[in-house]
Amino acid sequence: MSNVIIVGGGASGLVAAIFAARQKNKVTVLEHKDKIGKKILTTGNGKCNYTNLNQRPECYRSNDTSFAMKVLSRFDVNQTIDFFKELGVYPKEKKGYVYPNSEQASSVVEVLRLELLQLKVRICCEVHAERIVKVRNQFLITTNKGEYTADQVILATGGCASLKLGSDGSGYELAKNLGHRIIKPLPALVQLKSDSKYFKTLAGVRTEARIQLYINNKYAAKEQGELLLASYGVSGIPVLQLSRYASRALSENKKVYFLIDYLPAIKEADALQLLWERIKRNPARTMEEALIGLLNNKLAYISLKEAGIEPTVLCNTIHKNKLQALVNQLKEWRVAITEPNSFDQAQVSSGGVDTLEINPDTLESKMVKGIYFTGELIDVDGACGGYNLQWAWSTGAVAGMNCGDGER
Ligand SMILES: Cc1cc2nc3c(=O)[nH]c(=O)nc-3n(C[C@H](O)[C@H](O)[C@H](O)COP(=O)(O)OP(=O)(O)OC[C@H]3O[C@@H](n4cnc5c(N)ncnc54)[C@H](O)[C@@H]3O)c2cc1C
Repeated sequence: MSNVIIVGGGASGLVAAIFAARQKNKVTVLEHKDKIGKKILTTGNGKCNYTNLNQRPECYRSNDTSFAMKVLSRFDVNQTIDFFKELGVYPKEKKGYVYPNSEQASSVVEVLRLELLQLKVRICCEVHAERIVKVRNQFLITTNKGEYTADQVILATGGCASLKLGSDGSGYELAKNLGHRIIKPLPALVQLKSDSKYFKTLAGVRTEARIQLYINNKYAAKEQGELLLASYGVSGIPVLQLSRYASRALSENKKVYFLIDYLPAIKEADALQLLWERIKRNPARTMEEALIGLLNNKLAYISLKEAGIEPTVLCNTIHKNKLQALVNQLKEWRVAITEPNSFDQAQVSSGGVDTLEINPDTLESKMVKGIYFTGELIDVDGACGGYNLQWAWSTGAVAGMNCGDGER
């Protein structure tokens, strides 16, 4: 029977503990917060979007794009749903997104806690792991509450997104001190800032949009969905999805901008015709009035200004060329991105322990035998939609199954 210590009582650590304990290892979880699973409680707006039925390689981003799928094939979405069903979580699916039927993230934490209790896993809260060293065949873990020894250690500390929920980046230091290379951690699934002057006026606007990301003037990716405009810049699911690429490019001093299409359902030629018909039908209205019902009124006002048209000018004074400028503005509104919001606002961290130094079959370190890595600490970040928790469950299960010398 091996003595396995798991550093971090979050999503991946708790699942790792269950799998390690089911194989008759003696398992202890060290968690520096006062309770386990704090971040899980906040996921999916408190409902916990714990996985997604549409699993595609491009939903997992990393320096090494093949690593995530190798791990996920060892504990996939169906095994995850079965695992949680067995614990009591009945799945509810909406367009591929999976939630507990109770729609309470607390259900997920509770079933994990009950299983850990049954398996007699020791949970030590308010214990912060400060340093790990290998002494002969054992690991010595120095904490704020004294020293712990283990035969194997699973590092499940998360990254450094949302500090108040526990992940403070200390896992990177623990891994670095064991000799691992860390790919620079950056905020991902995060809002993006812009210094364009009009955002203060546009704050609060929500609108469907198609967004194309350009890096150093080259097209990089696109997303469509509900865009939220804020005083600092842009937010909403399509922005979060593109943010990890924008964050990394900005950290490499590359120029980043969005081209935003505020009329994604209308082709450019049709948009010109539509606007032309609207101003012809109501020649005595102002241009601002001509856009009522087509665009959010704040967006209408700023788009006219940006296209060089006074909002108060009458429709019957507008030439078709001017209208084309407005169409260009609405279909390809260029927004320079200056920086991501901070780690505190980010849902995940991109970067982390270099996957080249981890065995994808077991998640054991290739540098230090007996050390395992799980979850967000590894250089893999998922898209928005249940992929980050899926990564946490899969890595937790694979590391838990493979650590220790208990019964397999
Ligand atoms: C607001 C929000 C909403 C989200 N919603 C979703 C969602 O709906 N679906 C989805 O898939 N993903 C979601 N995510 C992302 C997802 O929650 C994380 O990717 C996932 O929890 C990562 O799991 P983890 O085990 O790697 O790390 P964490 O869950 O962060 O757990 C790490 C644990 O380690 C502890 N710890 C850290 N360092 C130490 C140390 N030195 N000693 C002791 N303990 C330590 C921390 O306190 C923490 O409890 C969301 C994230 C946030 C912030």
